[in-house]
Amino acid sequence: MSAEYRDYIRIKRGNRKLVLQVLVVEWSGPHEPVSHWKTVKTLEPSVSLSQLDDEVAGLLKDPSHFGFCTQCNDHFVNGHMHGEEYCQSCAEQYLGICH
Ligand SMILES: [Zn+2]
Repeated sequence: MSAEYRDYIRIKRGNRKLVLQVLVVEWSGPHEPVSHWKTVKTLEPSVSLSQLDDEVAGLLKDPSHFGFCTQCNDHFVNGHMHGEEYCQSCAEQYLGICH
């Protein structure tokens, strides 16, 4: 899996299964992110690395978990997106929005 998504996606070895988890970031206040790991899929432990990559790629394309910033051309969890086209840091940089 690409190192850049390690903050957002992780694979844990569960009881005879592999568990694919995604970081969910919610905001209880403007500067109080609350994050937790949500299990999105369980996989057979025999799954190959390329299958794992496919799962991760599919997860990144899932709009219920991830958005895509059109400025820095990267995926971010929805909690780190500002609307549908900007991540939060690009929103600050290009739209002058303070978080
Ligand atoms: Zn961005």
